Parts: sequence; C-alpha cells; structure tokens
Amino acid sequence: MSDVLIRGIFPHGGLRFVFCQGAGLCNEGLRRHRADPISGWLLGEALVAAALLSAQLKFDERLTLRWIYPGPIGTILADVNESAEVRGFPQRLTLLPDVNSVAAAIGGDGRISAVTSLPNRIGRTGITEAIFRDVSRDLAYFLSLSYQVESAVAVGLAMRAELPAAVEFATGILLQPLPGGRLERFDEARRISESLPFRQWLEAAPRSLHETLARLDLGETPQELQQQVPVYKCNCSKHKVESVLRTLDPDEIRSMLEQEGMAQVNCHFCADTYYFSAADLQSILDNSLAGTA
Ligand SMILES: [Zn+2]
Repeated sequence: MSDVLIRGIFPHGGLRFVFCQGAGLCNEGLRRHRADPISGWLLGEALVAAALLSAQLKFDERLTLRWIYPGPIGTILADVNESAEVRGFPQRLTLLPDVNSVAAAIGGDGRISAVTSLPNRIGRTGITEAIFRDVSRDLAYFLSLSYQVESAVAVGLAMRAELPAAVEFATGILLQPLPGGRLERFDEARRISESLPFRQWLEAAPRSLHETLARLDLGETPQELQQQVPVYKCNCSKHKVESVLRTLDPDEIRSMLEQEGMAQVNCHFCADTYYFSAADLQSILDNSLAGTA
C-alpha cells in the first residue's frame, strides 16, 4: 500500500479527519537512523502522528513535537511541514536486548511539547504531561489540552520480525470535531479509537480509509478534501550546517583544524553527513575572526 495522507470531513456529523498510510515514510526513517525494532516502532509511530498534523499547518509553518519519556528511549522528536514532509529521531536507536517492549522503552509518565515555527520566527508553543505512555494517545491529550481542540489519534504499526527492522504497514487516524459539530458523535468515535480492540484491529492488517472510518462507526459518507503523499524529508544542507559552525568559538574551529584537519558533522534529523575540508574550516575561521575584529 503506497503512502498517502487524506484529509476530509463528515459534514453532517460535524467531524474532520486525517488518515495516513505511512510505511514508506517510517522505513526511510528507520533506514537512515538504523533504529532497532523497539526504537524503530516508536520512531515510526511518531512520524505517522506528526504527518497527521501537517494538514493543520499554514504556508511555511513547521511543527516540532517532542515526546519526553523517563524510560530508555528518552526523547522522540518528530517534525513536519505543511507539505507533509516529515523527519525525526529517537534519542536512543538501540534498545534490544536490554529493553524488549515498547512499554519498557517508554518507562513511565512523561511530557509532550510542541513548537510551531516559521522560517525566522517561533510561534505557538505548548507542553503537557504525557500520562498514557503511548505516543498517539499522549499526542491526542496534548492537542485537547494545550491547543483546546478535542482530538482522537490512533496509529497502528506492524514490524517485520527479522532484522534489519522494517515496518510492514503503518496506519494513522486523527479525528476532531468541527467548530459547532456534534460532540456526542466525536466522543463515541474517540472511545472506540482508544479501545484495545480497535488498536489490535489497526495493527492486524493494512486498513483503508473507508474500513477505518467504518470501524469507528462513522456511518456517513466522508467528503475527501485533499490527498498528499507524506515523505521523509530533511531540509538540511551544507550551507545550513556551515552557518552553525560559524556560530562556534573561533578556538573550537582552530582546534578542529589543527587536530583533525577537517570536520565531519551529522544531521540529527536525517543522519546525512557533511564534510568540511581544512580549506572550508580556514575560510570559516577567517570569516569569524573578521567578524569579531
Ligand atoms: Zn538532515
């Protein structure tokens, strides 16, 4: 099943939905970060959850989500823009064999934070507790409390058993009442989406949009408004990494130059590596000395 993100509404029921099939997106993240099956599961769930929120972003906005858990996984970061370009990484990539379940990796109650930003400006920020110890439910709780938009989020993933870790399918659904919509209808769908049988059903096989909405008892025919293809995409570049190097203390650049004769910088988001030669470093150093003179 190819990756797709579908946004739509139930005009009579007063609900909006976003549906995502995102196995390709997850696998690109797992491949880049070489995450193991436990870490990869949490990364995949976070990437699909972030993709579901792309429809809420306006032109050039970017949303950065952080799930901060006390267990061995630590922080899971995912961010997304309005074109459904998603990227992210978990703090720990290898958890097996010491940690052998998602629940053990999460380890307890945490926090979830979100920052909406424009290219040169930080916009809305928010933080709430993450009491469900579950990436999707904690995000729904965050949206309901911090953004004051009642929300239901469910993501179902299936991982291949053998290494390298790979996602067979990943299905996500976000539901929210439209302004003035009927809350009873939403509450019932949310109750189903949070139930164990629904999660097990979502994780048992790839599900289509219509199967998923039918399972949530949303009998009315949905109106699809927009389809996009979510992709794993990072906006890093050598130029951007270089501008970060330019902010370092000139002594740090000088010591890289003297000790290594080059610098190698990895992007946390996509694991791409950027190399800076001695000549590159000398030019950064000359510029930074000229700037401070
Ligand atoms: Zn990158």
